[in-house]
Amino acid sequence: MPVPEANARLEKQGRFALKDFNYDDASDTYHCPAGQLLHPMKSRQKNTSGRVEIRYAARGVICRTCPLKLRCLGSNAAYRTIGRWEHEDVLERHRARMQGAGELMRRRSGIVEHPFGTLKCRAGYRHFLVRGFDKVRGEWSLMALCYNFTRVLNILGVDAFLAALAKTFAPCRCTLAALLTCIQVALATFWTNPPPMPAIGRPNPA
Ligand code: SF4
Repeated sequence: MPVPEANARLEKQGRFALKDFNYDDASDTYHCPAGQLLHPMKSRQKNTSGRVEIRYAARGVICRTCPLKLRCLGSNAAYRTIGRWEHEDVLERHRARMQGAGELMRRRSGIVEHPFGTLKCRAGYRHFLVRGFDKVRGEWSLMALCYNFTRVLNILGVDAFLAALAKTFAPCRCTLAALLTCIQVALATFWTNPPPMPAIGRPNPA
């Protein structure tokens, strides 16, 4: 997945954004577009989404005389600061993997976007209803199961699928009836008019 780039507002204003500053892991500093260093400050801040950020600051005496300051500093700022997420190295490794991943991204669009689009637009599934990793994983698994199931039906056809079910569950009609009810509920999630399930008759000895 592409990493959403922050600082869109700064870029719109024609000002330097985080991506214009290069981080040096060894010295834990940023190099600004003028080649000057930004050092980490002691304080830590939580941004609006709850992420802990370390602020890096340039020296005011350098920024004041910098020829690039109009593209860098805010109207009231004496020096430039930028925030770095405490786990930013995760995103940096991901950005590095994304370099030259155009072909993979095209494959991803062909394979993955279709299920997401179907889930969002046809099933109206645009957000999770539960909270917490385990619950979200369970909710997502159910939605993926429903999606996969409708794909199977589209490929096999309802009649062929029901014939296979009837054959498998012929000795136990109650289980088959319960299963067909579940299937109809699942289908109703994705289809406006799901096909009717057949009545359960006596099992065919053949
Ligand atoms: S204003 Fe400061 S941080 Fe910005 S480019 Fe100039 S020296 Fe670097």
